[in-house]
Amino acid sequence: MAGLNRQQAPAIVILGPGSLTTAQRIQLRYPQATIHGLRGRVEGADQYYDSFGDSLRALYQQAVPIIALCAAGIVIRSLASLLDEKGAEPPVLAVAENGSAVVPLLGGLSGVNVMARELGEALGVTAAITTSGELRFGTCLLNPPEGYTLADIEQGKRFVSDLLAGEGVRIEGDAPWLAHVQLPTSDAARRTIHVGCEARQASRDELLIHPRAVVVAVAAARAGLAEHVRGALDAAGIAERSLACLLVAEQAMAEPALHQAATELGVELRFAPLQGTLASMVAEVLPDAQLIEQPDMVIARAPQPVDPARLGRKRGRLAVIGLGPGAAELMVPAVKAELSRAQDILGYETYVRMAGPFRDDQVQHCTDNREEMQRARHAFELAAQGRSVVVVSSGDPGVFAMAAAVLEALHASSDPAWQRVDLQILPGVSASLATAAQAGAPLGHDFCIMSLSDNLKPWSIIEKRLDLAAQADLVLAFYNPISKSRPHQLGKALEVVRWHRSGQTPVVLGRDIGRPGQTLRVVTLAELTPEMVDMRTMVLIGSSTTCTFDRADGSQWVYTPRWYPEAP
Ligand code: SAH
Repeated sequence: MAGLNRQQAPAIVILGPGSLTTAQRIQLRYPQATIHGLRGRVEGADQYYDSFGDSLRALYQQAVPIIALCAAGIVIRSLASLLDEKGAEPPVLAVAENGSAVVPLLGGLSGVNVMARELGEALGVTAAITTSGELRFGTCLLNPPEGYTLADIEQGKRFVSDLLAGEGVRIEGDAPWLAHVQLPTSDAARRTIHVGCEARQASRDELLIHPRAVVVAVAAARAGLAEHVRGALDAAGIAERSLACLLVAEQAMAEPALHQAATELGVELRFAPLQGTLASMVAEVLPDAQLIEQPDMVIARAPQPVDPARLGRKRGRLAVIGLGPGAAELMVPAVKAELSRAQDILGYETYVRMAGPFRDDQVQHCTDNREEMQRARHAFELAAQGRSVVVVSSGDPGVFAMAAAVLEALHASSDPAWQRVDLQILPGVSASLATAAQAGAPLGHDFCIMSLSDNLKPWSIIEKRLDLAAQADLVLAFYNPISKSRPHQLGKALEVVRWHRSGQTPVVLGRDIGRPGQTLRVVTLAELTPEMVDMRTMVLIGSSTTCTFDRADGSQWVYTPRWYPEAP
């Protein structure tokens, strides 16, 4: 919908070092923007990509405004396959490498021409605007500013054609953004731009624009809430499109029916404490609104559009995410999206650094690796205030990492504000899987994942599990195989495994997989010594059926077949 979405920070995409100066000038105009540079070609960018096309398409699909410093044709070709897709179209602009031309390409209804003008001003050139209405009137009538929405886009297009054909126009209602544009206004005009909250069909001769000035407040969720709200607005003669948000009592924050209603109505949910009546809750946050009180809801009509972001607060979100082993391309897209929406990022410093770079408005809270419970509690405290918080783990957050710590903290807490946080666990590629994929398919049959660290469990249980897992002929994946504080345990663990496995059993050692300087080694169980392993190593020990064979590059494939021989 035009002008509704709070726009994300633009991405300035450059291909070579020659564009960096122009990119930096653009960044002065849009300080939140990030410069994306081609890896290996550009230095001094904020982020790096490997494939121009893939990265442009990903940005487009995430509705990120794109300023590409290259030929317009390259941008068009890269995005062509996506243009038929429905959904929000972000502004896309091509800017000449030396800043001498600004060409708005896509996103007419999301403000591309406004951006083109701003960029033109910043670079001292005239933007290549080609939209007729925009050229004639100096504004896109179909894209009213934030807080206003068009009743009917198709009718709007006809209306603008009429004005271009020479019709005059009258403005009814409050349209502050049109005060300084060159519209052919006249009091005798047949065409009108009408700004108001009332529900009615736009007539043939008018452009109907609704200010989002209405808030509906409820104390609790119920089935069919969206329909109920629609009915109440209709009975009050208010257009649904004037609805800015739902304001709900904090106590109901986690109720699914509420979130479903907000999605159906296409509006945000905001929350406030309910102490007295619903009307007093609304009056507290919207003092100058006119209230229509009903038995189970209050409709509040403000004199101006309401910015939901300033009303009460949103539901906090806590996402425990897995970065994967390290390489950016092994991070799942949901995790990338979560990182870009995060306001606070918590984690062990190495992983927070791996998850970056972050924008200036994102707060990083780096802590020591061992302070897991404290970090989990801190994350809930922030999220309970309504913030979007991310806790980072390497690999998968549920494998010897933060997800269980976060759940443990929640389980132990009786704070209702913690319970209401929108808690999400987003998976990642765990080190055992990333290592296995590089070696072939050593985990192709039943396997067992163990941490050899006795920080949080007695060594005796480790030995017992090792003994039983090895006896069961499971492939073994060892996390935390060794550390400076427990140098001798891996040797003891291998002793137990050797009771049940032959010396010829293949062993895969993956060190820093997916990170710079990664190494992969295949040895036999007889050859394996603790010196080959450190705390950044993943150890995969084969079962009796795991086998190896030569690869064309001289190294070896390792796999465990899917079948298992019948017992004799
Ligand atoms: N949550 C993580 C595991 C944390 S435990 C995951 O799912 O991958 C830490 C152990 O994981 C390390 O001691 C090491 O054994 C292993 N590990 C983590 N990242 C690794 C990598 N990139 N390469 C090899 N092993 C890794």
